[in-house]
Amino acid sequence: MLILERSEFSKDPEKLKIHNIDWRGEYIGSSNLLIFPKSVVKLSKILKFCQQKKITVVPQGGNTGLVGGAVPRKGKSDVIVNLSKLNKIREIDSIGNSITVEGGCILDDIKKKLQLHNLEFPLSLGSRGNCQIGGNISTNAGGVNVIKYGSIRQNILGLEAVLADGTIFNSLKNVKKNNTGLDMKQLLIGSEGILGIITAATIKVYPLPKEKVVIWSSFANFEQVLNFYVYLTKKFNNLITSFEFMNKESIEVLEQNEIQLKNLKRNECYCLVEISNFQFVKNFNEFVSSSIDFNLLETDDVIISKSENENKILWNYRESIPLAEKKEEFIIPHDISIPLNNISKFVFTTTKIIKKYNKSCKVINFGHLGDNNLHFNVLINKFSSNKKNQIRKSINRIVFDNVKKYGGVISAEHGIGQLRRSELKIQKDISEIKIMKKIKKLFDPANILNQGKVI
Ligand SMILES: Cc1cc2nc3c(=O)[nH]c(=O)nc-3n(C[C@H](O)[C@H](O)[C@H](O)COP(=O)(O)OP(=O)(O)OC[C@H]3O[C@@H](n4cnc5c(N)ncnc54)[C@H](O)[C@@H]3O)c2cc1C
Repeated sequence: MLILERSEFSKDPEKLKIHNIDWRGEYIGSSNLLIFPKSVVKLSKILKFCQQKKITVVPQGGNTGLVGGAVPRKGKSDVIVNLSKLNKIREIDSIGNSITVEGGCILDDIKKKLQLHNLEFPLSLGSRGNCQIGGNISTNAGGVNVIKYGSIRQNILGLEAVLADGTIFNSLKNVKKNNTGLDMKQLLIGSEGILGIITAATIKVYPLPKEKVVIWSSFANFEQVLNFYVYLTKKFNNLITSFEFMNKESIEVLEQNEIQLKNLKRNECYCLVEISNFQFVKNFNEFVSSSIDFNLLETDDVIISKSENENKILWNYRESIPLAEKKEEFIIPHDISIPLNNISKFVFTTTKIIKKYNKSCKVINFGHLGDNNLHFNVLINKFSSNKKNQIRKSINRIVFDNVKKYGGVISAEHGIGQLRRSELKIQKDISEIKIMKKIKKLFDPANILNQGKVI
């Protein structure tokens, strides 16, 4: 028998409504029970009970995922297990530079707490005010600083999780080297809640950068952007913490729905580059400006920020694009990775085929170019509602066939969830799929965790 405290669950239809729907409003589940475990031991009892009774469970963090992974399925009675009450910061180690946090901690809260200790956890996403670290780990979140710090996987030292049968998996080490056989925590990172529920992690942190400079520039074409990338990475190497790309259509959607860009020249492509951590230079802005040979750049439009306030304004343009897109009626999103040496050909060819298919389409390209990641989102302006599914299928086919042709992958950072489940079977090697299925069976033989997601 499982006994839950009153504050550990809810059947309130209004509350359930919020937790049954994903951020984009594309997936609406029909769960009628929401559980908020308050301790790891309680979560272990809950999963043990669910496995015995064959009750399916959806692990949920901040519910900011973009592939329908954290919401229950339609027409099924999945139980939502939301981690928001497991949200303690267990330890900050300012000698070894690490932090141990519970899975339900909000990313921004962790960042703010670390700032008080002059430390930084560089994972940064537009959703940082709502997403939880357990959700970040289970999606192997990327964000804007991967070019320097890697995705979250590269920063996890230890992990604690509860497995489907209630076993508490404890690999919560605070050491940088650990060669003690198979590194089991790597399987849980990026597993999107199908292998276990992440309850705590020990994560690497870094000294808070003293200064940051943002460079905003615009270009006439993609080739020039890539030249700029090569030039800057040679010049500044690992001082570059972000390299973001936006095409003209991203800026148009931003201005139509969210904010106006002030005093910025118009062009075909834009880049936002952040350089930081050069602690020995007194005047960082001057150092950056004087290091750039403006004659070599194929643009006359480069803005170098002079204050933290200017940094924020420029970042706000980039980070508001997903919010602006959300206001459009019909967008078909793609979060893809393409090798940089093929990315220009990919964008040109795929856009051309899409425009041929439907003249009213606009291709909104933006993303973390420095780590091959492009959000290739297709905005459809003219359509009849009963043709939406057909249009989505055709556009996806065009994009994904070209992703394969140019050596890319169909998900760079958002994961598979419900959205990319069928495409995964087409794109991933059959031998890998077979092993994934075997691992799933080993961890969760009764298939109670996030059924209908990923595989
Ligand atoms: C505006 C905006 C910007 C974004 N930008 C980025 C970006 O730059 N980079 C990026 O990578 N993502 C981005 N995302 C996507 C999303 O924020 C990330 O995937 C994030 O890591 C999800 O965290 P969450 O807590 O919201 O997880 P949820 O959405 O709640 O869950 C995501 C998946 O993880 C599982 N899960 C959640 N918590 C746990 C847990 N404790 N244990 C096991 N499984 C769990 C869920 O079942 C689900 O499959 C963005 C989203 C938005 C809305």
